[in-house]
Amino acid sequence: MTDPYRTLGVSKDAPHAEIKRAFRKLARQYHPDRNPDDAAAEERFKAVQGAWELLETPDKRRQFDEEQQMKQAFGGMGGMPGGMGGSGLDDLLRQFMGGGRSQQSPFQSRSRPPPSEPVKGADITAPLDIDIEQAMEGGKVQFTHNRLVRCSDCNARGCAHCTNLGVRRKKSRLTINVPKGAKHGQQLKLPKMGNEHPSGEPGDLTVTLRIDAEEGRRWEGDYLIQEVPVSYSTLMLGGSARVTTPAGKTVSVKVSSNTRIGDRKRLPKMGYAGSDLDIEFTLDEAESLTEAQIEALESLKNAGL
Ligand SMILES: [Zn+2]
Repeated sequence: MTDPYRTLGVSKDAPHAEIKRAFRKLARQYHPDRNPDDAAAEERFKAVQGAWELLETPDKRRQFDEEQQMKQAFGGMGGMPGGMGGSGLDDLLRQFMGGGRSQQSPFQSRSRPPPSEPVKGADITAPLDIDIEQAMEGGKVQFTHNRLVRCSDCNARGCAHCTNLGVRRKKSRLTINVPKGAKHGQQLKLPKMGNEHPSGEPGDLTVTLRIDAEEGRRWEGDYLIQEVPVSYSTLMLGGSARVTTPAGKTVSVKVSSNTRIGDRKRLPKMGYAGSDLDIEFTLDEAESLTEAQIEALESLKNAGL
């Protein structure tokens, strides 16, 4: 199977909204209506759709990411262990408590840990999508996640309701304080909000922030890149382009002659939360051409361009 992130041209830590925009753009580009009887476009269109189906909801995406992690963890052992293919991973097995901080194996041992190590529920890592205003201003964001909690029916001794495990899966709602100027990829640790343990301490929850930087912008690490569409003639001859910064300010930037698609320019302090902003020039593609434009292009063609 091909990597859906790669098919959609987004990074693995991209916020959900960015993936959705990438899908829509590619689906439009390769749509059969726009490419009648073109097998290559059709194949690409199907690949884009297939990739989106794997990532289209946060739940599906989490499931895909977890399966990839498992495959990686078992990659050196000749693939997935028997009975674990597809989505049949046992949540309880995966999230079940073990001892100490041996986080290397996705399966924590269910046998008793050595006496020196404290008994503890497994830690949980989960993403949280927020928009750029929320991230710039900071504040409270509601967050819901599934975790194991001590079974109240049996006081964690084990009963039919918790299949004798002493813990059950439950939806936990909590309020997360996003710090002002939070960074994309920043991790917030919430002690004891991970999986609970029948007899030991709960594990911790680590929330990774994913900031939606809006249309035409993407993160490279925690650094923001903004695409600036420029007409072909401006790329060739030079001129200027208007840029609306993440803070909503519109500035004019100089485009040098002979600028290539993908060329970058740094705008000091115009980026996210007062950092620098790197702009990347892209081609502003014309949807349709006027007669005058066609005429001008014809003469360009005759001139050998
Ligand atoms: Zn119980």
